[in-house]
Amino acid sequence: MDHKRLTNSIDGAWEEITERLIAYVRIPNKSPLFDPDWERNGYMEQAVDLMADWCRAQPLPGAVVEVRRLAGRTPLLLVDIPGELPGCVLLYGHLDKQPEFTGWLEGLGPWEPVVRDGKLYGRGAADDGYAVFSSLTAIAALKAQQVRLPRCLVLIEACEESGSVDLPAHLEALGATLGEPSLVVCLDAECGNYEQVWCTTSLRGNLVGTLRVRVLTEGVHSGMATGIAPTPFRILAQLLARLENPVTGDLLLDELQVPLPADRRAQAVAAARVLGDEVAARLPWAMGVNALSNDPTELIINNTWRATLAVTGAEGLPPLQSAGNVLLPEVACKLSLRLPPTCDPARAAQAVCEVLERDPPYGAQVSFSAGSGAATGGWNAPTFAPWLEEAITQASRAVFGREAVNIGCGGTIPFMGMLGERFPKTQFFITGVLGPHANAHGPNEFLHLDYARRLTACVSLVLAEHARTLTR
Ligand SMILES: [Zn+2]
Repeated sequence: MDHKRLTNSIDGAWEEITERLIAYVRIPNKSPLFDPDWERNGYMEQAVDLMADWCRAQPLPGAVVEVRRLAGRTPLLLVDIPGELPGCVLLYGHLDKQPEFTGWLEGLGPWEPVVRDGKLYGRGAADDGYAVFSSLTAIAALKAQQVRLPRCLVLIEACEESGSVDLPAHLEALGATLGEPSLVVCLDAECGNYEQVWCTTSLRGNLVGTLRVRVLTEGVHSGMATGIAPTPFRILAQLLARLENPVTGDLLLDELQVPLPADRRAQAVAAARVLGDEVAARLPWAMGVNALSNDPTELIINNTWRATLAVTGAEGLPPLQSAGNVLLPEVACKLSLRLPPTCDPARAAQAVCEVLERDPPYGAQVSFSAGSGAATGGWNAPTFAPWLEEAITQASRAVFGREAVNIGCGGTIPFMGMLGERFPKTQFFITGVLGPHANAHGPNEFLHLDYARRLTACVSLVLAEHARTLTR
């Protein structure tokens, strides 16, 4: 294979991909969780069409591009590219988006694509719109050089940001069509910097629920009621302290702890050596604020192998301007827990619910409800096969001139757990473009175009090496 020709064809393809991604950013196809009316609004349809049309125009002889539909569920885009070798590779991404969020800088916005300093700003290009373009381009670049490949199946779901709740039904409907992939490529993960390949070796799970505390049937003048009735806010704080140490942020339940495997600790140490202070510095700190620890290894382990709690929303607290001197009758908050990779999500959900609801202070009405699909398991990758480890190392050296790094991911990709369960012998190459300041889910999300282009070349090289293992 001619390396120069490979990068040339990928670079050429990315000019058109950038145009397509610009159009894609304009579509507000929020995940169903954030747009319950998604079906009527039709944005998801626009996004799927945009991608499917592009896929059909790619130089991939024999490829079948299909938009699969199930009643009431988000569509699934599937591109089936026949191969010359036995076996198959599954490449995964998603096309649904996170909601807008606030805090976009002047001139930027979630649905307003802007290319600035080599970065495409706007919602959903990096998380995870680029995946389908990158995957097909990586394959087409190899086909252009007559590299023999196994069948490649590119699967793009539209429900990832809602916990992939529609995916099991699609997988069931697909049945044996999926084959038994010997390699899964996932382009929905993080990178520690834009200078080398980053491989995700574990993912955390996620548990979301609403904690509600009610003490009165209506609000009462605080001068009349405080000192007599407890405030629901104080009870809420007390309940949260059962779950996490309010000083350190450590989660207190045994059901939320797992042992850290020795190889993952060693990887965290190695990644911390590469990243150093950047582990913390990549966050948009307010002036004077410190990280939870000065030790980057500790921060990586915290972020990837420990449970954490974030309060992500509230109800019952009036906005400041209309907040009078009232003892509030009820407050509720949304809790978002990240679970360690090997933590049992159902057991964790049960334990969290029990600790929050038992013996409510002052007999207050307390409930914790985790909606359906609210607990998603994490995942710990099988150990790399020697060929894959070598292929990723060589790809990173060839494209970036630097070593690849393995690291856990603090986020959740439900499909990896599903696949891991179904295909325990499958190898996983999980990587992505969500690097420093790319800020998926928050304001000012961007896709680092040069990094995405180079990562596409790395995917090509890993696919080529995988194909070589099939001919040995
Ligand atoms: Zn994503």
